Amino acid sequence: MTHETDVVVVGAGPVGLFAVFECGMVKLRCHVVDALDAVGGQCAALYPEKPIYDVPGHPAILAADLIARLEAQAAPFHPVMHLGRRMNGLERQGEVWRCTLSDGTDILAKAVIVAAGGGAFGPNRPPLDGIEGFEGQGPGRGVHYFVTRREDYRGRRVVIAGGGDSAVDWAISLAEVAASVAVVHRRPKFRAAPESEARLKALSESGAVELVVPYQLHGLEAAPGGALAAVTVATLEGQTRRLEADALLPFFGLASDLGPIAEWGLALERNTVAVDPATMATTTPGIFAAGDVCTYPGKLKLILSGFAEAARAAHSARAHTHPDEALHFEHSTTSGVPAA
Ligand SMILES: Cc1cc2nc3c(=O)[nH]c(=O)nc-3n(C[C@H](O)[C@H](O)[C@H](O)COP(=O)(O)OP(=O)(O)OC[C@H]3O[C@@H](n4cnc5c(N)ncnc54)[C@H](O)[C@@H]3O)c2cc1C
Repeated sequence: MTHETDVVVVGAGPVGLFAVFECGMVKLRCHVVDALDAVGGQCAALYPEKPIYDVPGHPAILAADLIARLEAQAAPFHPVMHLGRRMNGLERQGEVWRCTLSDGTDILAKAVIVAAGGGAFGPNRPPLDGIEGFEGQGPGRGVHYFVTRREDYRGRRVVIAGGGDSAVDWAISLAEVAASVAVVHRRPKFRAAPESEARLKALSESGAVELVVPYQLHGLEAAPGGALAAVTVATLEGQTRRLEADALLPFFGLASDLGPIAEWGLALERNTVAVDPATMATTTPGIFAAGDVCTYPGKLKLILSGFAEAARAAHSARAHTHPDEALHFEHSTTSGVPAA
């Protein structure tokens, strides 16, 4: 299927969503592509239930709530969402750009705003035989690299692997709802904030969390229906233990990879897309970048900077798509927004 639009926004993180709003305000229609099944980028995938304290006008806002508000703010402009699909190809075709998605969809766009964060990011997967068979959305199958809803773990036996902040913070949090929490780490010392480590040790002393150290993940065992039944762990000397489990949460960090974006011919600097901060233009005319994916002198990787960059990219995209029309700048208080 081939679509046509003014702008393709690559990435439905906070910056991509706000780019849709800003494009709408300058009368550009958008299609949005994201490899994840849901909008929200890092906020939704990595820390939906954490409060963010540095979004202007919100003394504290949960990451998931910020995303819901950004979605509502973009809704009046009716973006066409292509979720669960990666944008692989970007090719010039006459006056427009042909954007090719992983499901074979093509979108012809007059301009592209790359708001791809760290690129299509994914977890570092422990090297366990058959682990892919236990992965998937929802609590059912057993291996999850992100916690999207703490309630999904209520009454369940949880094994957490890793020694950093995510492992320690989620062990502390899930101990309040799970039937049991075991933390597997290869050494007694954790790499988490000292106060978090102290809380974890206190929970271990009270029996609310079991520290399984010094052990590493060794294997996974399936129940007859295929869901996770147990995790085996082993010491370096080969001594093994079997931990009955409904869920394994491996927290070994994320690997982000620009992936196909690195092949689009844009100038890159240390795995980010170089832009002119006055316009957010990349080195390729018609392609703009905003948010974590872009770099320029003084760049701050913060959501608030990404919002300003999205506004700038939208105005630049408008100048690119309508070169003969001067844009009459209006504040939103004057122009208003269409009804959703
Ligand atoms: C634990 C944690 C806490 C944080 N706390 C704060 C905070 O307090 N304040 C703050 O300002 N910032 C914070 N950040 C950083 C903030 O989340 C990022 O700056 C922000 O998410 C960047 O938004 P973005 O839209 O540019 O990119 P992202 O949120 O990374 O979204 C990019 C999206 O693009 C998609 N994508 C990439 N490549 C492709 C492709 N080829 N095809 C399709 N889709 C693609 C990805 O799947 C992703 O969904 C925090 C980050 C973390 C991890």
